[in-house]
Amino acid sequence: MWLKELNAEVRTRLDTLDGIAAEGSEHAVVRIGRTEIPHLVATVRTLMNEHQPGEYGECRVCSRQRRRWLKPFRRPKAPCRVYLAARRALLDERNPAIERGTNRTAS
Ligand SMILES: [Zn+2]
Repeated sequence: MWLKELNAEVRTRLDTLDGIAAEGSEHAVVRIGRTEIPHLVATVRTLMNEHQPGEYGECRVCSRQRRRWLKPFRRPKAPCRVYLAARRALLDERNPAIERGTNRTAS
């Protein structure tokens, strides 16, 4: 499957779940909560596992660790974007994207 198709398929699924969460019946919301939240949690955990801090406390994917030997004691320039996104989505109550229905895919 090409990335473009995969992207569209996943975004459509997320839009569907978001729509049910925002406008679905209580029964539908409880049902997707029980069936889909475990999948979403597993997905976030998979992403976080791929971006775990390495020996120097920075993400191996997002950092330029290949050039670490040039400046072995430098601090990471920016935190891992996956952890930042997860933290913002899960813990930041001021995030307008987590308000009902506002985080749907714009396409
Ligand atoms: Zn990262």
